[in-house]
Amino acid sequence: MIRKLLTIALFVGATYSATAQVTTKPAIPRDEALEAKVEKTLAKMTLDEKIGQMLELNLDVMGKMTVENAKIDREKVRSVLQQYGRSSEETEAMLKLTDQEILDKLGSYPVDIYQGDTKRIWKLNETMLDTLISKWKVGSILNVPGTRAATVAQWQEWIQLIQKKSMRYLGIPDIYGLDHNHGVTYTQGGTLFPQPINIGASFNTELARIGAEITAYESRAANCPWVFNPVVDLSRDPRWPRVWESFGEDAIVNSKMVVAEIKGYQGDDPNHIDEYHVGTSTKHYFAYGAPWTGKDRTPAYLSPQMIREKYFEPFKQAALAGTLTMMVNSASINGMPVHASYEYLTKWLKEDLQWDGFLVTDWADINNLFSREHVAKDKKDAIRIAINAGIDMSMDPYSVDFCILLKELVNEGKVPMSRIDDAVRRILRAKYRLGLFDKPNTGGKGFEKFGSDEFAQKALRAAEESIVLLKNEGDMLPLAMGKKILLTGPNANQMRCLHGGWSYTWQGSKAEDLSEKYNTIYEALCNKYGKENIVLEQGVTYNENGAYYDENEPQIDKAVEAAAKCDVIMACIGENSYTETPGNLTDLWLSENQRTLVKELAKTGKPIILVLNEGRPRLIADIEPLAKAVVDIFLPGNYGGDALVNLLSGDANFSAKMPYTYPKEINSLINYDYKVSEEVGTMAGAYDYDAKVILQWPFGYGLSYTSFIYSNLKVDKTSFTADDVLTVSVDVKNTGNRSGKEAVLLYSSDLVASLTPDNRRLRDFTKVELKSGETKTVSFKLPAKSLAFVGADGRWTLEEGDFILKIGRLTQKVECTKTKTWDTPNI
Ligand code: BGC
Repeated sequence: MIRKLLTIALFVGATYSATAQVTTKPAIPRDEALEAKVEKTLAKMTLDEKIGQMLELNLDVMGKMTVENAKIDREKVRSVLQQYGRSSEETEAMLKLTDQEILDKLGSYPVDIYQGDTKRIWKLNETMLDTLISKWKVGSILNVPGTRAATVAQWQEWIQLIQKKSMRYLGIPDIYGLDHNHGVTYTQGGTLFPQPINIGASFNTELARIGAEITAYESRAANCPWVFNPVVDLSRDPRWPRVWESFGEDAIVNSKMVVAEIKGYQGDDPNHIDEYHVGTSTKHYFAYGAPWTGKDRTPAYLSPQMIREKYFEPFKQAALAGTLTMMVNSASINGMPVHASYEYLTKWLKEDLQWDGFLVTDWADINNLFSREHVAKDKKDAIRIAINAGIDMSMDPYSVDFCILLKELVNEGKVPMSRIDDAVRRILRAKYRLGLFDKPNTGGKGFEKFGSDEFAQKALRAAEESIVLLKNEGDMLPLAMGKKILLTGPNANQMRCLHGGWSYTWQGSKAEDLSEKYNTIYEALCNKYGKENIVLEQGVTYNENGAYYDENEPQIDKAVEAAAKCDVIMACIGENSYTETPGNLTDLWLSENQRTLVKELAKTGKPIILVLNEGRPRLIADIEPLAKAVVDIFLPGNYGGDALVNLLSGDANFSAKMPYTYPKEINSLINYDYKVSEEVGTMAGAYDYDAKVILQWPFGYGLSYTSFIYSNLKVDKTSFTADDVLTVSVDVKNTGNRSGKEAVLLYSSDLVASLTPDNRRLRDFTKVELKSGETKTVSFKLPAKSLAFVGADGRWTLEEGDFILKIGRLTQKVECTKTKTWDTPNI
């Protein structure tokens, strides 16, 4: 009986939204002239041409990697095989082969398995390009050969040729896509900004906009019109290897950042994107950052409330801000692979929001529907499911089977022609919106600011605003000049650690030669404090030829010995760079070697500054008490060393706050918006039941060299109903003796609700700059409906009763006087 009731409840929950009235206007306003062009082009296309538009191939297949003077490096072979997830049996078997045999097997792949003096040259094969475009009519290409940044000149040569052939054979330009994720990842000499997790920590949406605008400009300088960014997978599981790719754990932070970035990337009018802006692919739609196992690309199990209220929200805002495309989550939600979900792809995005952009799969993900998810029996079945669910473009990097199989499906009536037309219309629309028909190529004159000092300054300022001061006992910082500093730890002298993954190469590894001109922490420290005052003894180092977590034999004694001659110890600890599955971990604790290093150094009695340089919060509860100061720099990019030193010396002031909850215990991985029931303290009576929240540093926490006092929290209405907008204001005063910036965060708490409420939810934030002694009034417009939640019946509900609004330590009670329940999926 119970099961039956549950089935009915689920059924009702699932169907209400399907029958709900859709009242939304198009997410992107329609431009009739542009639509007419789309229709005209579509009308002339054959089925083969249409299907070709729906395929995206990897550039690698259009060329060949030739290797001159090949000398195999077996450690690199091991590392590459590990990175690509090969089993240890396969790896060992490969390592038993001769050099020539290894070369025969791996030589044509764009992977680095060679000793230093081996030359690898990738050449575009024009005949292959001709075939792929004239015969298979491929409409999109992605990626960089060997996943290593190319020069602007190479991009110009390759993409111009691709465009020439696309226009000649198809009359339709290619849409070239690159993971230009925090700057131009795959273009040498461009500007790399701090990673998105840092931008989240800055709580400054303007930095997000500026970074995106510069990335767009530099992408177009390299003739690339489309970036696979922004990333708004809420980073709510610290174990996940892609935590650092989004703006942190909160839906509102990600929503405001994504809107700012889309504006920066695309400009003000998504229908007419000029030659200095690019199309975005907001990713990975959606709930990718909540894998049950903590491992990349594994299933998520989430309540309907979390899905709609939190994970969907930034994607909804991206659609409304006009993102041209979205890339889909490779995994599943509650057993439904997102690539197969009509409800999530078509219903939620394309129908409910009337979003007319296109959906691209992630890497070969249609294949996963049969090979991994087992919801399809073979590739053809998988294509049928995905295209019917709403996928418009298949990123099937190495194969044209998609064209053959999809054509069969259409001819067999298993994929309706209307679906093909809809997908192609969306792709053509994006190409028209990007101006590619009129101007398939960009770059050259007018792009002189590529890699300029002006852009570098912006990246430096962004880095300074994105580094969090977590502890500063006895005003240990700023660190006065003239002290002798022991600089230690594996992250002390590596650009790779500062810029993280998606930096010149996919994993961020093997790219030191491309980032030589930037300063590591060591170099930046020498520049500021004088080389003679810095003793570099790392104690622990990473094995650059191994997996990201491999460390060399530690030399802790050497560091301890060096400490004796120094006044202060700066330990730069954390992680080496990684991206995606190769970044999976088995233990969230910071490596044993690194924690031992800090423990041994602490025995010297010298004060310790911990510098955390990591893509996710690694547990450090046993060493944190040993430090006088702690600074979290996350992944601050190429100017991270300089930014850190500007902050440590006091030339710049800290103003960032934690974009996620920093855990303290392995069994207390929690987010800031946990349920009230998680924290009720110890029960009275004989039993010691308790519910306590234990964490290292909370979301939103961060110190400054100055201090701010909040007063006068006011709300213009003490009671309200759903249609009201509340104006909430607060005075912020800089009470310290230097100027600084303060991120002001507005939270709400629903005191009693029909579903256990979250203890608090961030509703809005802004950042203000205040001189010493200055006061500013900050005010927020808070639509009352943003206090609603998704009820047990799956509907948005604002329930009557009391709410608390909170800024800093100040609170104001307000009352909702009338319950409202919405019938629409989005409010
Ligand atoms: C990643 C995406 C990326 C794509 C193309 C995938 O493996 O998950 O984030 O955009 O590759 O490089």
